Amino acid sequence: MGSLSSQKRMVVLVPYCFQGHMTPMLQLASILHSKGFSIVVAHTQFNSPNPVNHPEFIFHALPDQLDGFDTSFVNLLNVMEAINSNCGAPLVDYLVEIMKDKGQVISCIIYDAIMYFAEAVASQLNLPSIVLRTSGVVFMESFHDILRLHSQNRFPFPDSELENPVPGLDPLRFKDLPVPVSSVLPEKVIEFYESFINIRSSAAIIWNTTEVLENSALNQLHLHYKVPSFAIGPFHTMVPASSSTTSFLKEDRGCIAWLDKQAPNSVLYMSLGSLSTIDEKELQETAWGLANSDQPFLWVIRPSSVNESDWIEHLPEGFQEMVGDRGLIVKWAPQKEVLAHPAVGGFWSHCGWNSTLESICEAVPMICRPCFADQLVNSRYLNHVWKVGLELEQPSDRSVVEKTIRRLMVDNSEGKEMRQRMLDLKTQVESSVRKDGTSYNSLNDLTAFIASFP
Ligand code: UDP
Repeated sequence: MGSLSSQKRMVVLVPYCFQGHMTPMLQLASILHSKGFSIVVAHTQFNSPNPVNHPEFIFHALPDQLDGFDTSFVNLLNVMEAINSNCGAPLVDYLVEIMKDKGQVISCIIYDAIMYFAEAVASQLNLPSIVLRTSGVVFMESFHDILRLHSQNRFPFPDSELENPVPGLDPLRFKDLPVPVSSVLPEKVIEFYESFINIRSSAAIIWNTTEVLENSALNQLHLHYKVPSFAIGPFHTMVPASSSTTSFLKEDRGCIAWLDKQAPNSVLYMSLGSLSTIDEKELQETAWGLANSDQPFLWVIRPSSVNESDWIEHLPEGFQEMVGDRGLIVKWAPQKEVLAHPAVGGFWSHCGWNSTLESICEAVPMICRPCFADQLVNSRYLNHVWKVGLELEQPSDRSVVEKTIRRLMVDNSEGKEMRQRMLDLKTQVESSVRKDGTSYNSLNDLTAFIASFP
């Protein structure tokens, strides 16, 4: 479907303010813009996106009252709660102003599942709303089972059960569930999960996934949701490179020139995304395993991602001299470009959903080092279902690190087979976003669905 023929309709997007959520929402904005909608992005003041990267959108900052608030990772639940309490009224005021302009029609509000205040705003203003899930379907579905297990007083699970499959969620094991399974879940956390899976009056759900990856989970969705689901991903494959910059941190582009000098498929790219942290011991064991593996590497170490360190001061003494030109460490990389570079042959990843999709779309096999939440689920699917990643059994053991890197990057049959499966998966995913593919068709259905709102 091309541009909307009659009046230019506006879609108001409400992203959640962390990288892994902001990126897919801005990608969705670009996709809908290419379908003829005008775009308003109503975002928090905290971690606000850079409007310069998207001159085609209108950006509006919602007063979030987060100034002075503890926005660190350990306080995320309170951050979400504060945003949901504080941003509703300013969003109403802003939309009422827009609606006074008779030439302007707001088609609907599309909000990140965590920004559920936006659904209440939509109801209050008689506007339709659609919820965007930025993670995979299996992850979201697992919360229904987690709540069921909680209501049966099954938490905490003993260590002896952790390797067992979760009934109904096989092949996920108890240890792959995206919640702490070895303790009782606090009521406040349960309340958040309930809010997270509840779509309230929303008219549909948009997923950044594809049937190629999550066919059976998508087919189960009707058990919990009676509204249409649109699986139109991976979003990033449909966005022109010119509007793909969504990073909060400055990308170190010097690493591309360094990659240009490396042999094809030789470099291990390593990144744990925008939020995950590790301790000093793990950093040091990873560094030793890497040094002993003899493989070239490009390693993203985010400032304060290792026990609140400034940057790389906890690396083993003499590490950089030891590895010399064989390795490069940066604070933040242009990841999609890195993964697309012919020199990159493997991705050591925390398995965030965006990183997972980006790696699949460049056919780069992975070493899975999940830290929390959906990363555990994605990792299980990467190494057990799609069989395109290796599970890192003990991240804090240098010999396991070395062995796992060699299995992926050096040893002939295993690494090669995994690379071939990744290539097959990439081909299938690519065909789903091409003309008449499932995501392509689903996007057209979504466009027609939004255009049909009165
Ligand atoms: N990313 C990047 N440069 C880096 C590390 C990550 O651009 O050095 C991007 C990556 O391409 C992905 C996003 O940050 O789009 C991370 O999202 P993901 O869902 O993988 O993980 P999260 O950060 O939410 O844990």
